[in-house]
Formats: sequence, structure tokens, C-alpha cells
Amino acid sequence: MSYQHRWMQASGEVSIADYPVGKVVCVGRNYADHARELNNPVPSEPILFIKPATALVPLEAPLSIPEDRGACHVETEMALLIGQRLQGAGQAQALAAIVGVGVGFDLTLRDVQNRLKDKGHPWEMAKAFDGSCPLSAFVAPEGLAWDQVTLQLDRNGQRQQDGNSGDMITPVGELLAYISRYFTLNPGDVVMTGTPAGVGPLHSGDSLQVRLDDRLAVATTVL
Ligand code: ZN
Repeated sequence: MSYQHRWMQASGEVSIADYPVGKVVCVGRNYADHARELNNPVPSEPILFIKPATALVPLEAPLSIPEDRGACHVETEMALLIGQRLQGAGQAQALAAIVGVGVGFDLTLRDVQNRLKDKGHPWEMAKAFDGSCPLSAFVAPEGLAWDQVTLQLDRNGQRQQDGNSGDMITPVGELLAYISRYFTLNPGDVVMTGTPAGVGPLHSGDSLQVRLDDRLAVATTVL
């Protein structure tokens, strides 16, 4: 199935968004409580990595996860759709370039990642595989306070993740500006802003509900 970015109107109606599908730039350990739960040091500057366009799938379609590579963890993150080219941008310019906000899963093959980390190797095989970035439809960000966005994941009816963007180590404007010094962001690129604590393995048959503030509520299942 080929992925396209989508809009969700206030009515709940979903339409195709007229933006190309590009890369996804992600930040690791942007919430201190998540860094601690995996016994990782809290970083002094953002840890960036990229998922290719082939990682993208619609979040609400049943999710197909690799079955033969150990644990596949779900990390629930606020996702930002970029509408204007950003290169060496300042924070105000970066914030003005956000045309959509949604939720994404940074699916992570945790056992694979631990092996790669032990060897000092790159993380792509653990984090950039096909289908590793399920994304919801996007809503307009107007009126959203970037430092007060709540994010929740319920798995099988139990609250598993409960975050607030006010707890980000590198807040949204600063994060986009930082990213744009290293990777030019083009219209249609997506930025994943990091996960709060509560990451854990997915299992076949899981039902997942995600909520972004009062803007977006999405449900999906694991095949
Ligand atoms: Zn993540």
C-alpha cells in the first residue's frame, strides 16, 4: 500500500494532503523520563536519525510488525508536517513552517537496536525498516501551544504513555531550527518529536488508541 499524507477536518472527514512524501527526521531521548526508563544518559544535544519515505504507513490501517526480529516497541510521538523549506532556520521561521500536527509511532526493534548499540553501529535496521513509521492524518496547528500539547497511548484499554510537550528537553521551535542546520527540511517532510516514557512491546491482536490534546483521536490494531 502506498502512503500519502492526509488531512483530517474538524468534522472528522479525511482527505489527501497536497504535499509530497519525503523523509522523516526523528529525535531520540527528547523526554528525560524515557531516557531513564531505558537506562540511557540524558543527552546534552539532540540525537537525530532519519526514517526514509518507505517507513511510512497509515497509522489507522492494521499495523504489520516484523515477527522474526525480537521485540518491536511502540513509541508514541507528536509528528509535525513541514510546509516550507527550512535550511539553517531560526525558531520563528521554523514554527511558521509547520502546516500540520499529527501522531506517529516510532516503531523500534528493541533487541536489534540493543545489539547495534553494543557494537556502536547505526540504528537504521532497528528504526527505519519498512512500516516503522505509522502516521495519522494531520490537523491544522493553529491555536496549539507547542509547549502544552498532551499525548496519550492506551493499549488494550490501559493507559501506557501519557506525555506533555512541556517536558521535552529540546522544545519544538528549537528542535526544528537545530535539525535544519544539519538536514534541509522540504515541504512534505515530517519531524517526530520524541517519546515520553511508557514504551513497550507490541503483540499481535493489540488494540491501540492515541490522543493528541483535544485535536486528534486515532485507533488502530496490530495484525
Ligand atoms: Zn522515538
